[in-house]
Amino acid sequence: MKILTTKDLKKYFPIRSGVFLQVTGYVKALEKVDFEISEGETIGVVGESGCGKSTLGRTLVKIYEPTSGKITYYDPSGQTHDISKTLDKNVKSTFRKDIQMIFQNPYDSLDPRMTIRDIVLEPIETHELFTKDEKKSRDEFIRELLAKVGLHPEYARRYPHEFSGGQRQRIAIARSISVSPRLLICDEPTSALDVSVQSQIINLLKEIQQETNMAFIFISHNLDVVYHMSDRIIVMYLGNIVESAPSTELFDSSAHPYTQALMSAIPSWNPQKRKLDKIKLEGEPPSPINPPSGCPFHPRCQYRLEQCDKLKPEFTEVKEGHLCACHLYTR
Ligand code: SF4
Repeated sequence: MKILTTKDLKKYFPIRSGVFLQVTGYVKALEKVDFEISEGETIGVVGESGCGKSTLGRTLVKIYEPTSGKITYYDPSGQTHDISKTLDKNVKSTFRKDIQMIFQNPYDSLDPRMTIRDIVLEPIETHELFTKDEKKSRDEFIRELLAKVGLHPEYARRYPHEFSGGQRQRIAIARSISVSPRLLICDEPTSALDVSVQSQIINLLKEIQQETNMAFIFISHNLDVVYHMSDRIIVMYLGNIVESAPSTELFDSSAHPYTQALMSAIPSWNPQKRKLDKIKLEGEPPSPINPPSGCPFHPRCQYRLEQCDKLKPEFTEVKEGHLCACHLYTR
């Protein structure tokens, strides 16, 4: 069953300047993004910094309001709601419970003045998932939850500064899953952690998914990590989705020249693979304030065609379930 879909989702951030803070331009962070995720699925989102992947995650949970486009939320009974417009308090509350997010930096995402017990309990209290007389069951619940994420239940009485980065990310995960969400958006959840701890967090998330059938959106610039987590990967460039395919298909037969360049940059221990030509990306990504006309990748593309700077390519199915926005596949 679907959980979220988007249609033509746009997010522009206004740039203000002058004494009266007039709007003088926009950072075009998301351009007409179409996206969907169903229960139990993991979608990886990759791309260089500033490509819009974190903005996508934050717009889906409504930390940012979309500039235009539609976000449809499928509630547990299968009813659909346009979440950018709905005013229904119950729908909003179920949506906020169902869609949770964990962030890159576990140092910033936990309130240093609260105990771990209170941090983990806060979403449960907000959504009134316990009645007033259930103090004992709250404590039992916290103990079980901490054990589930690999932390000692006695840690409930401590404060965030007493923990390492990996332990704090486990606390953030416990807090997010405390309300049994249907979708967890993970925004670079391992990039602030040591390499040895990264794999522990990835394994923990995988275990949680196997137990609960939760869906994940896994945002990362680390293609290896995304490959190990995801069923499907979408590649973003300058606010646009340029390719979408099942993980193995994307790694074995990427179609978009930008994805091919990303793939060729992955260091490999396999000597055969190391011999493959590295595709060098020319220059830096253009500014999202003034993006290029036509295909957003054309200033850096070694295969660009005559129409590439004039006409934006549509998504084309290059193989079943494998979509790519490139004129090379529409000729
Ligand atoms: Fe390159 Fe043209 Fe394809 Fe864009 S549409 S990736 S410029 S070939």
